[in-house]
Amino acid sequence: GESFDLQERQHIRNAMSDVEQIQAMVRHQLIKIYQESPKAQPLVIKMIKQFLPLKSALTAEIEELKELTKQEDGELFKKLRKTVARRIDLNQNPAKCSTAKKLYCNVQSACGFGCIIHHYTICLFISLGTGRVMMSNMSNLAYPNMDKIFLPLSRTCLTAEGNVDDYPEWESPNDEHPSSSDAPIVKVSIVYHRDRKTPFAPWTVPKDLIPSLERIHGNPMLWWIGQLQSYLMRPQKWLSDSIKEAKGEEFQHPIVGVHVRRSDKISEASYMANDAYMTAVSDWYDTYEMRHPNETVVRRIFLATDDILIGSQLKITYPKYRIVQIQKNAVVALAKRFSGSGLEGILQDVFLMAECDYFVGTMSSNVGRLVHELMQTRDYDTSNAAITIDHSFRYYGQFPERHLVLNDHHAENPCPPEFEPLPPNQFPKYVRERLQLENILKQGCEVELRKGDIIDAWPELNNNYMRGGVNIRSGRWGLYPKFKVKQIIEPAPYPVIENTSL
Ligand code: GDP
Repeated sequence: GESFDLQERQHIRNAMSDVEQIQAMVRHQLIKIYQESPKAQPLVIKMIKQFLPLKSALTAEIEELKELTKQEDGELFKKLRKTVARRIDLNQNPAKCSTAKKLYCNVQSACGFGCIIHHYTICLFISLGTGRVMMSNMSNLAYPNMDKIFLPLSRTCLTAEGNVDDYPEWESPNDEHPSSSDAPIVKVSIVYHRDRKTPFAPWTVPKDLIPSLERIHGNPMLWWIGQLQSYLMRPQKWLSDSIKEAKGEEFQHPIVGVHVRRSDKISEASYMANDAYMTAVSDWYDTYEMRHPNETVVRRIFLATDDILIGSQLKITYPKYRIVQIQKNAVVALAKRFSGSGLEGILQDVFLMAECDYFVGTMSSNVGRLVHELMQTRDYDTSNAAITIDHSFRYYGQFPERHLVLNDHHAENPCPPEFEPLPPNQFPKYVRERLQLENILKQGCEVELRKGDIIDAWPELNNNYMRGGVNIRSGRWGLYPKFKVKQIIEPAPYPVIENTSL
């Protein structure tokens, strides 16, 4: 039959995201009414009871519309995936290694697995952008044996000659001339967050892929990140065997992955109650049941966490759900977060969450972001196969996330032009800054928008119907409704290797 054109597809995607925003907004306001006026409580409960099935029905209708192009889109997804895989393969496996240009990736951060792997992937972005073979022994302070878990980066370039200390550091001179150095081998060193103002920073997309990706995917930037991330994380056989074994018989579809990040993260990100995760899980299953009226649905959750109590808490408070969990991983995660010995557990958890039909987590966590990235290898649009209950997606060192304003917005309750003084010096500066941003969310103060304005969006300011950031025209900051803006896709000048054009 006749297929939808680009505009029609965008209408369908927008409709889906509008429904999600309506739901988030209604829920947010009703909870406030419930808390503030006890007399209104019965009415609030009645409203929620009537609203939720209606919302599920509407979501289900839109899902059915998306289904109409699924097969056709699947073909294009396959083609895009294969094209990218071929480009990576050619870049990483030159016929003659001795004459190929190389980029050595030197990661020396002491952080968790998700953080470390995100650093390595930065190198792959730059490698592909500059046509250099990415090399690394994948050995770092936190995880010295990373080369034993993933397949080698290259089949033809096995060792880098010379001494790492002598390689010149790669720098991006400017956007027009991305190749900074002619040295046969350069290095990219990452200790904390590299300042990655390169045209190949994440949150950009190869220019030639944009028209196709825009047609079939709600978030081309995320898709591109996911392709590179999953290349780096191709498991060695022992690891895929270990994941298969860990999966066991209880892991069956439909299943929703839930990642609850607590323990040491509590200073870095705000505490999110179990109920916040479960509300999102329950929404997803409501829609699923609406779309599969003849199925007896077992509401399964694959739970991954570094908090040993959550599994049993959920079993008690949510008896209708079946909790699947690799329990010992939570114990190890708590004790061994920053040593190689917790690695197998986090890998099992991450890969299994990425296999779930839907994912609920916090994008303040590298682990949550990794899961959504790894979901991007399916042959359908997985941009909304994950929901975050705190920050929106980000990639440290990314190109800024920019929004283009589609409709004017009057700020009901404008944010003051200056930030309030930071709270007392009892926390590190970054924690205080985050608290300040989260305070804006709580206050709900807004920023004025005019059609055509561009906004630097801040990931911390996200409650699933309002986003926040700074309006570049006015310099003012605050929240604004998501439906009045669209994400700007930033094209990047990745070279198109011969015979790999789309
Ligand atoms: P972030 O700190 O949440 O941004 O993520 P990182 O990956 O940088 O560090 C978190 C570390 O905590 C991981 O490397 C794991 O060792 C551990 N961890 C966190 N969540 C889980 C989980 O769900 N399962 C397991 N096995 N480990 C976890």
